[in-house]
Amino acid sequence: MPRRVYLETFGCQMNELDSELVAGRLRTLGYAFTGESAEADVVLFNTCSVREHAEQKVWSRLGELKARKADDPNLVVGVLGCMAERDGEALIRRMPVVDVLCGPGELDKLPTLLDNAVRTRASLAADAPAEWPRGLRSAREVALQGNTSRRSATLAAAQDTLEMLDLSRAMSPTDGEGMPKRSAYVRITRGCNKFCTYCVVPFTRGAEVHRPPEHIIEECRRLADAGVVEITLLGQTVNHYRFEHGAAVTVNGVTQPQKGRSYTGGHRRDPFAGERVTTFADLLARIHDAVPSIQRLRFVTSYPRDFGDDALEAMRDHPRICRYLHVPGQSGSDRILGLMNRGYSVGEYIEFIDRARAILDQPEIGRPLAISGDFIVGFPTETDADFEATVAMLRRARYKSAFIFKYSARPGTVAIDKYPDDVPEAVKRRRNNALLAAQDAIGLEVGQSNIGRTMPVFVEGLSVRERKRRAAGACSAHGSVMLTVGGRVPSACGAGPSHGEEAHEESRAVERVQLSGRTDTDHIVLFDLPAGARVEDWIGRLVPVRITGATALALSGSPITA
Ligand code: SF4
Repeated sequence: MPRRVYLETFGCQMNELDSELVAGRLRTLGYAFTGESAEADVVLFNTCSVREHAEQKVWSRLGELKARKADDPNLVVGVLGCMAERDGEALIRRMPVVDVLCGPGELDKLPTLLDNAVRTRASLAADAPAEWPRGLRSAREVALQGNTSRRSATLAAAQDTLEMLDLSRAMSPTDGEGMPKRSAYVRITRGCNKFCTYCVVPFTRGAEVHRPPEHIIEECRRLADAGVVEITLLGQTVNHYRFEHGAAVTVNGVTQPQKGRSYTGGHRRDPFAGERVTTFADLLARIHDAVPSIQRLRFVTSYPRDFGDDALEAMRDHPRICRYLHVPGQSGSDRILGLMNRGYSVGEYIEFIDRARAILDQPEIGRPLAISGDFIVGFPTETDADFEATVAMLRRARYKSAFIFKYSARPGTVAIDKYPDDVPEAVKRRRNNALLAAQDAIGLEVGQSNIGRTMPVFVEGLSVRERKRRAAGACSAHGSVMLTVGGRVPSACGAGPSHGEEAHEESRAVERVQLSGRTDTDHIVLFDLPAGARVEDWIGRLVPVRITGATALALSGSPITA
């Protein structure tokens, strides 16, 4: 009987990709997956420590498992990702329910850790207090990177086993909900060398490491062969990708990823591009040309400094690369940017935004550029004047959307030790709401500028409203609100397919199904599935949609079917 795993992921796209790779590896080793933690023999949380909220959720999940674990000593509980790496064994002391700790840099070792944990349930941890219930005293399995990755000058000296996790990626034709998998993340860079003072990533994910371009292109090709049509390239500072072929090392016939030695020769062009070096611009062009069945190529997250004209021109000259940039600004005050150690000034940031628009914003040929940003309000010592400068920068950049957060002091960061968190919560809240309101007004204007346009929309699935309606409707199956997807009835109501279909056929006649998709400018577009059409036939398709409406957060329209 295969062991059933429940894997819950918190935080960023990088974590989502890590979870997908880990799940693929465990499936090949005979583990099965369940969406219900109560049914699982192994419960795993892939964690994020950038936001306090995500951490609180993990602590409460672990707390909920205490009673079950005390009754069921064979249950294996694991914490993966940034919380594991940052807190280490202190996390187990705080939460003895945890058996396995695995940092993001050690995920290739997880199968072995789980295997050991499963096999050693019987053996007790030497240091476990005798008064703890039996289920909490089992031996622990721990794989953490610590800051070894930073110390090792020649990372490539040993086989980069984590690269093997990406290389051995299982290509699943369906997603977690059994729907056709038409979009995927591909990592091009791991870790980060920037050390922004509010961020823990350089300490939990280690040094910046660039994957060999051949590995990335091959992975994109395999994904395309498995039916994927949209690929998002991932990196903490994705535009800093740079692979020096002259310095490449091969171990057991596998070219090794390379430590980042960012080229800081300004943002014009990389003099070594092409032959001896594969730059970010080169990589974009090579993937675009080598995998023509990828209809959409996009990337996150960009770093405003050192974003070369060559990369912007590669986006302009390759039609299937999306005209979308996600470029966190964080603050509109040079003083605060300095305290954050962001490494650029407001002037340099705006210069980049203007340069990107000059090269890429071409609404006249139906290819506008959209930019989104990130901002932290209430960073230590932030004054009203600093905040007003941030509002001014947001207005100047004219984002389609912006992720706006209140500063919270995060354990393991430079800032928590260096700067007292002195901006009152009420002030943080007021500034957060004011910046959100300013962005909503701009987001609405940017959205409305698309009304009347016909835009290619990548259909991602049911809209949030439709999912909520199903979740609610499922429990009133005998009513008329619920609709089917490919004949399956959502598990909530427990009514069998045959029972549901008549009811659903009736209801389909009166209720439209709302789908959600994205433009290549990353605008969310909501539209109704044409009558008689099947949801699963539309997911993953690029369909022309005439935009008829806009809010600050989404566009709406009607698909052009004939
Ligand atoms: S660039 Fe800064 S905020 Fe982004 S991951 Fe690196 S250290 Fe963190």
